[in-house]
Amino acid sequence: MPSTASSAAVSTVVVVGTGGTIAGVAERADDHVGYKAGQLGAQALVAVVPALAERTDLVIEAETLASLDSCDMDHGTWLALRERVSTLLARPEVAGVVVTHGTDTLEETAYFLHRTLELAAKPVVFTAAMRPATALSADGPQNLLDAVTLAARSGASGVLVAFAGRVYAGADLRKVHGYRVEAFDAGDAGPIGVMADGRLRRFRPWPEEPAHAAAAALPAAGAWPTVDIVTSHAGARGGVIDALVAAGARGLVIAGTGNGSVHRSLVEAARRAEAAGVVVRRASRCQLGGVVGTRPDALPSAGMLSAPQARIELLLDLIAAAR
Ligand code: ASP
Repeated sequence: MPSTASSAAVSTVVVVGTGGTIAGVAERADDHVGYKAGQLGAQALVAVVPALAERTDLVIEAETLASLDSCDMDHGTWLALRERVSTLLARPEVAGVVVTHGTDTLEETAYFLHRTLELAAKPVVFTAAMRPATALSADGPQNLLDAVTLAARSGASGVLVAFAGRVYAGADLRKVHGYRVEAFDAGDAGPIGVMADGRLRRFRPWPEEPAHAAAAALPAAGAWPTVDIVTSHAGARGGVIDALVAAGARGLVIAGTGNGSVHRSLVEAARRAEAAGVVVRRASRCQLGGVVGTRPDALPSAGMLSAPQARIELLLDLIAAAR
Protein backbone atom coordinates (compact mmCIF):
# COMPACT_ATOMS: atom_id res chain seq x y z
CA MET A 1 0.00 0.00 0.00
CA PRO A 2 2.63 2.66 0.85
CA SER A 3 3.82 4.21 -2.40
CA THR A 4 6.85 5.83 -0.83
CA ALA A 5 8.91 4.89 2.21
CA SER A 6 12.24 5.96 3.62
CA SER A 7 14.24 5.42 6.77
CA ALA A 8 14.26 9.22 7.14
CA ALA A 9 10.47 9.38 6.94
CA VAL A 10 9.01 11.31 9.85
CA SER A 11 5.36 11.36 9.05
CA THR A 12 2.66 9.81 6.93
CA VAL A 13 0.00 11.31 4.70
CA VAL A 14 -2.88 9.09 3.66
CA VAL A 15 -4.68 9.78 0.38
CA VAL A 16 -8.28 8.55 0.50
CA GLY A 17 -10.00 8.34 -2.89
CA THR A 18 -13.72 8.79 -3.34
CA GLY A 19 -13.92 9.15 -7.15
CA GLY A 20 -14.67 12.29 -9.16
CA THR A 21 -13.18 13.73 -12.32
CA ILE A 22 -9.70 13.58 -10.80
CA ALA A 23 -10.11 9.81 -11.14
CA GLY A 24 -11.99 10.11 -14.44
CA VAL A 25 -11.07 8.47 -17.73
CA ALA A 26 -12.02 9.55 -21.26
CA GLU A 27 -11.41 7.75 -24.54
CA ARG A 28 -9.63 10.76 -26.01
CA ALA A 29 -7.15 13.15 -24.41
CA ASP A 30 -9.02 16.20 -25.74
CA ASP A 31 -12.32 15.08 -24.22
CA HIS A 32 -13.04 17.06 -21.03
CA VAL A 33 -16.73 16.26 -20.90
CA GLY A 34 -17.54 12.77 -22.19
CA TYR A 35 -15.47 10.95 -19.56
CA LYS A 36 -16.48 8.58 -16.82
CA ALA A 37 -15.73 9.89 -13.31
CA GLY A 38 -14.31 7.74 -10.52
CA GLN A 39 -12.52 5.13 -12.65
CA LEU A 40 -9.04 5.21 -11.05
CA GLY A 41 -8.17 4.24 -7.49
CA ALA A 42 -6.20 6.49 -5.16
CA GLN A 43 -2.97 4.52 -5.69
CA ALA A 44 -3.13 5.20 -9.43
CA LEU A 45 -3.59 8.94 -8.78
CA VAL A 46 -0.52 9.01 -6.52
CA ALA A 47 1.54 6.93 -8.95
CA VAL A 48 1.42 9.53 -11.75
CA VAL A 49 2.95 12.30 -9.61
CA PRO A 50 6.73 11.68 -9.61
CA ALA A 51 7.29 14.45 -7.06
CA LEU A 52 5.32 12.42 -4.51
CA ALA A 53 7.56 9.38 -4.97
CA GLU A 54 10.57 11.66 -4.47
CA ARG A 55 9.45 12.80 -1.02
CA THR A 56 11.96 11.09 1.25
CA ASP A 57 10.55 12.84 4.31
CA LEU A 58 7.12 11.34 3.89
CA VAL A 59 5.37 8.01 3.70
CA ILE A 60 2.40 8.30 1.39
CA GLU A 61 -0.34 5.72 1.69
CA ALA A 62 -3.26 5.56 -0.70
CA GLU A 63 -6.60 3.82 -0.36
CA THR A 64 -9.87 3.94 -2.25
CA LEU A 65 -13.00 4.38 -0.16
CA ALA A 66 -15.47 4.99 -3.01
CA SER A 67 -15.53 5.42 -6.78
CA LEU A 68 -18.37 7.87 -7.21
CA ASP A 69 -19.24 10.64 -9.56
CA SER A 70 -19.80 13.07 -6.71
CA CYS A 71 -23.16 14.14 -8.11
CA ASP A 72 -24.23 10.77 -6.68
CA MET A 73 -22.72 11.39 -3.22
CA ASP A 74 -24.80 9.92 -0.40
CA HIS A 75 -25.03 10.07 3.38
CA GLY A 76 -23.72 6.51 3.84
CA THR A 77 -20.48 7.46 2.06
CA TRP A 78 -20.21 10.58 4.22
CA LEU A 79 -20.43 8.44 7.35
CA ALA A 80 -17.90 5.88 6.04
CA LEU A 81 -15.50 8.70 5.12
CA ARG A 82 -15.90 10.39 8.49
CA GLU A 83 -15.17 7.14 10.30
CA ARG A 84 -12.17 6.27 8.11
CA VAL A 85 -10.59 9.72 8.33
CA SER A 86 -11.12 9.75 12.08
CA THR A 87 -9.33 6.39 12.41
CA LEU A 88 -6.45 7.59 10.22
CA LEU A 89 -6.02 10.87 12.13
CA ALA A 90 -5.80 8.92 15.39
CA ARG A 91 -2.58 7.26 14.19
CA PRO A 92 0.26 9.28 15.74
CA GLU A 93 2.48 9.08 12.65
CA VAL A 94 -0.28 10.44 10.36
CA ALA A 95 0.30 14.17 9.83
CA GLY A 96 -2.81 14.65 7.75
CA VAL A 97 -5.27 13.08 5.34
CA VAL A 98 -5.97 14.02 1.72
CA VAL A 99 -9.42 13.26 0.30
CA THR A 100 -9.79 13.17 -3.48
CA HIS A 101 -13.37 14.00 -4.45
CA GLY A 102 -15.52 15.14 -7.34
CA THR A 103 -15.90 18.90 -7.57
CA ASP A 104 -19.71 18.82 -7.82
CA THR A 105 -20.47 18.14 -4.16
CA LEU A 106 -17.02 18.65 -2.64
CA GLU A 107 -18.26 21.66 -0.68
CA GLU A 108 -21.00 19.53 0.91
CA THR A 109 -18.70 16.69 2.01
CA ALA A 110 -16.12 19.20 3.24
CA TYR A 111 -18.78 21.03 5.25
CA PHE A 112 -20.11 17.78 6.70
CA LEU A 113 -16.63 16.79 7.92
CA HIS A 114 -15.97 20.33 9.15
CA ARG A 115 -19.07 20.07 11.35
CA THR A 116 -18.78 16.51 12.55
CA LEU A 117 -15.15 15.38 12.63
CA GLU A 118 -12.84 15.85 15.62
CA LEU A 119 -9.58 16.76 13.88
CA ALA A 120 -7.12 16.69 16.79
CA ALA A 121 -5.34 19.73 15.30
CA LYS A 122 -4.49 17.89 12.07
CA PRO A 123 -5.50 18.84 8.52
CA VAL A 124 -7.93 17.05 6.23
CA VAL A 125 -7.25 18.40 2.75
CA PHE A 126 -9.75 17.89 -0.03
CA THR A 127 -8.65 18.07 -3.63
CA ALA A 128 -10.20 17.40 -7.02
CA ALA A 129 -9.91 18.20 -10.70
CA MET A 130 -12.01 19.73 -13.46
CA ARG A 131 -10.32 17.67 -16.17
CA PRO A 132 -10.14 13.89 -16.21
CA ALA A 133 -6.86 12.09 -15.55
CA THR A 134 -6.57 11.33 -19.29
CA ALA A 135 -6.72 15.00 -20.38
CA LEU A 136 -3.81 16.58 -22.26
CA SER A 137 -3.32 19.02 -19.42
CA ALA A 138 -4.98 17.31 -16.49
CA ASP A 139 -5.19 19.53 -13.40
CA GLY A 140 -5.47 16.66 -10.92
CA PRO A 141 -1.77 15.77 -10.47
CA GLN A 142 -0.70 19.29 -9.46
CA ASN A 143 -3.73 19.64 -7.20
CA LEU A 144 -2.89 16.32 -5.54
CA LEU A 145 0.75 17.32 -5.06
CA ASP A 146 -0.33 20.60 -3.43
CA ALA A 147 -2.84 18.79 -1.22
CA VAL A 148 -0.24 16.29 0.04
CA THR A 149 2.24 19.12 0.68
CA LEU A 150 -0.42 20.92 2.70
CA ALA A 151 -1.48 17.81 4.61
CA ALA A 152 2.14 17.19 5.63
CA ARG A 153 2.72 20.75 6.75
CA SER A 154 3.42 21.13 10.42
CA GLY A 155 0.82 23.30 12.15
CA ALA A 156 -1.80 23.03 9.40
CA SER A 157 -5.23 22.14 10.72
CA GLY A 158 -8.88 22.15 9.82
CA VAL A 159 -10.87 20.92 6.84
CA LEU A 160 -9.07 22.52 3.91
CA VAL A 161 -9.27 22.46 0.13
CA ALA A 162 -6.23 22.66 -2.17
CA PHE A 163 -7.39 23.48 -5.68
CA ALA A 164 -5.97 25.37 -8.67
CA GLY A 165 -3.15 26.88 -6.62
CA ARG A 166 -5.39 28.14 -3.84
CA VAL A 167 -6.06 26.92 -0.33
CA TYR A 168 -9.57 27.39 1.01
CA ALA A 169 -11.33 26.64 4.28
CA GLY A 170 -13.77 23.82 3.48
CA ALA A 171 -16.55 25.77 5.19
CA ASP A 172 -16.08 28.76 2.85
CA LEU A 173 -16.09 26.85 -0.41
CA ARG A 174 -18.57 27.31 -3.27
CA LYS A 175 -18.38 25.75 -6.71
CA VAL A 176 -18.99 28.74 -8.98
CA HIS A 177 -18.21 27.43 -12.44
CA GLY A 178 -19.27 24.26 -14.21
CA TYR A 179 -16.34 23.90 -16.59
CA ARG A 180 -13.40 26.22 -15.90
CA VAL A 181 -10.31 24.84 -14.17
CA GLU A 182 -10.68 27.61 -11.58
CA ALA A 183 -14.07 26.39 -10.47
CA PHE A 184 -14.16 27.38 -6.80
CA ASP A 185 -14.48 30.58 -4.83
CA ALA A 186 -14.66 31.41 -1.15
CA GLY A 187 -16.65 34.63 -1.51
CA ASP A 188 -15.93 37.43 0.91
CA ALA A 189 -13.74 35.17 3.08
CA GLY A 190 -11.28 34.63 0.23
CA PRO A 191 -8.66 31.88 0.20
CA ILE A 192 -6.57 31.06 3.25
CA GLY A 193 -3.50 31.16 1.06
CA VAL A 194 -1.95 30.10 -2.21
CA MET A 195 0.37 27.27 -3.19
CA ALA A 196 3.17 28.64 -5.32
CA ASP A 197 5.95 26.38 -6.56
CA GLY A 198 5.26 23.87 -3.82
CA ARG A 199 5.18 26.42 -1.03
CA LEU A 200 2.26 27.78 0.91
CA ARG A 201 1.81 31.51 1.24
CA ARG A 202 -0.76 31.89 3.98
CA PHE A 203 -2.83 35.06 4.38
CA ARG A 204 -4.79 34.25 7.50
CA PRO A 205 -5.09 31.69 10.34
CA TRP A 206 -6.13 28.09 9.83
CA PRO A 207 -9.87 27.59 10.28
CA GLU A 208 -11.00 27.10 13.84
CA GLU A 209 -12.72 23.86 14.70
CA PRO A 210 -16.42 24.54 15.30
CA ALA A 211 -18.38 23.19 18.26
CA HIS A 212 -19.13 19.68 17.09
CA ALA A 213 -22.79 19.44 17.92
CA ALA A 214 -22.94 16.06 16.24
CA ALA A 215 -19.55 14.71 17.31
CA ALA A 216 -21.26 11.84 19.10
CA ALA A 217 -22.18 8.80 17.04
CA LEU A 218 -24.44 9.70 14.16
CA PRO A 219 -27.19 7.23 13.35
CA ALA A 220 -26.93 5.03 10.26
CA ALA A 221 -27.75 6.96 7.09
CA GLY A 222 -31.06 5.15 6.66
CA ALA A 223 -32.26 6.67 9.94
CA TRP A 224 -31.45 10.26 8.99
CA PRO A 225 -34.44 12.60 8.60
CA THR A 226 -35.27 13.72 5.08
CA VAL A 227 -34.29 17.33 4.38
CA ASP A 228 -34.85 18.71 0.89
CA ILE A 229 -33.90 21.90 -0.94
CA VAL A 230 -36.49 23.85 -2.94
CA THR A 231 -35.46 26.72 -5.19
CA SER A 232 -37.55 29.89 -5.47
CA HIS A 233 -37.98 31.26 -9.01
CA ALA A 234 -40.45 33.05 -11.24
CA GLY A 235 -43.63 30.99 -11.38
CA ALA A 236 -42.64 28.80 -8.39
CA ARG A 237 -45.39 26.42 -7.19
CA GLY A 238 -46.12 25.80 -3.52
CA GLY A 239 -47.41 22.37 -4.49
CA VAL A 240 -43.78 21.24 -4.71
CA ILE A 241 -43.41 21.83 -0.98
CA ASP A 242 -46.74 20.13 -0.23
CA ALA A 243 -45.55 17.11 -2.25
CA LEU A 244 -42.22 16.94 -0.41
CA VAL A 245 -43.97 17.08 2.96
CA ALA A 246 -46.37 14.36 1.82
CA ALA A 247 -43.31 12.32 0.77
CA GLY A 248 -41.83 12.53 4.26
CA ALA A 249 -39.66 15.65 4.38
CA ARG A 250 -38.93 16.64 8.00
CA GLY A 251 -36.92 19.68 7.02
CA LEU A 252 -36.87 22.06 4.06
CA VAL A 253 -34.33 24.60 2.91
CA ILE A 254 -35.67 27.17 0.49
CA ALA A 255 -32.98 28.62 -1.77
CA GLY A 256 -34.51 32.06 -2.17
CA THR A 257 -33.75 34.67 -4.76
CA GLY A 258 -31.30 37.45 -3.95
CA ASN A 259 -31.05 38.13 -0.21
CA GLY A 260 -33.31 35.17 0.60
CA SER A 261 -36.59 36.40 -0.93
CA VAL A 262 -39.14 33.64 -1.44
CA HIS A 263 -42.01 33.48 -3.95
CA ARG A 264 -45.29 34.01 -2.09
CA SER A 265 -46.68 30.68 -3.21
CA LEU A 266 -43.69 28.93 -1.60
CA VAL A 267 -44.07 31.05 1.56
CA GLU A 268 -47.70 29.99 1.90
CA ALA A 269 -46.76 26.32 1.43
CA ALA A 270 -43.82 26.69 3.83
CA ARG A 271 -46.19 28.01 6.50
CA ARG A 272 -48.42 24.96 5.95
CA ALA A 273 -45.33 22.75 6.27
CA GLU A 274 -44.29 24.45 9.52
CA ALA A 275 -47.79 23.95 10.90
CA ALA A 276 -47.32 20.23 10.15
CA GLY A 277 -44.07 20.16 12.17
CA VAL A 278 -41.58 20.52 9.31
CA VAL A 279 -38.59 22.77 10.04
CA VAL A 280 -38.00 25.39 7.33
CA ARG A 281 -34.88 27.49 6.72
CA ARG A 282 -34.40 30.23 4.15
CA ALA A 283 -31.11 30.56 2.24
CA SER A 284 -30.14 32.25 -1.02
CA ARG A 285 -29.75 30.70 -4.44
CA CYS A 286 -26.94 33.19 -5.19
CA GLN A 287 -23.53 31.53 -5.52
CA LEU A 288 -21.84 33.86 -3.06
CA GLY A 289 -23.01 35.67 0.04
CA GLY A 290 -25.97 34.49 2.09
CA VAL A 291 -28.98 36.06 3.77
CA VAL A 292 -28.23 39.31 5.57
CA GLY A 293 -30.65 40.51 8.25
CA THR A 294 -34.29 39.51 8.40
CA ARG A 295 -37.85 40.86 8.57
CA PRO A 296 -40.13 39.90 11.47
CA ASP A 297 -42.58 38.05 9.21
CA ALA A 298 -39.94 36.19 7.18
CA LEU A 299 -39.26 32.46 7.26
CA PRO A 300 -36.27 31.57 9.51
CA SER A 301 -32.96 32.61 7.95
CA ALA A 302 -29.99 30.31 7.35
CA GLY A 303 -27.71 33.33 7.62
CA MET A 304 -24.52 33.12 5.61
CA LEU A 305 -24.81 29.39 4.90
CA SER A 306 -25.34 28.26 1.33
CA ALA A 307 -28.46 26.19 0.72
CA PRO A 308 -26.50 22.86 0.72
CA GLN A 309 -24.73 23.89 3.95
CA ALA A 310 -28.04 24.91 5.52
CA ARG A 311 -29.40 21.49 4.58
CA ILE A 312 -26.51 19.81 6.46
CA GLU A 313 -27.02 22.05 9.52
CA LEU A 314 -30.72 21.24 9.53
CA LEU A 315 -29.99 17.52 9.24
CA LEU A 316 -27.63 17.73 12.23
CA ASP A 317 -30.17 19.76 14.23
CA LEU A 318 -32.94 17.27 13.55
CA ILE A 319 -30.66 14.33 14.39
CA ALA A 320 -29.65 16.04 17.66
CA ALA A 321 -33.27 16.83 18.50
CA ALA A 322 -34.22 13.17 18.03
CA ARG A 323 -31.59 11.92 20.55
N1 ASP B 1 -19.16 15.14 -11.91
C1 ASP B 1 -17.79 15.18 -11.40
C2 ASP B 1 -17.85 14.84 -9.92
O1 ASP B 1 -18.22 15.67 -9.15
C3 ASP B 1 -17.23 16.52 -11.63
C4 ASP B 1 -15.84 16.74 -11.12
O2 ASP B 1 -15.27 16.01 -10.33
O3 ASP B 1 -15.25 17.77 -11.54
O4 ASP B 1 -17.53 13.74 -9.56
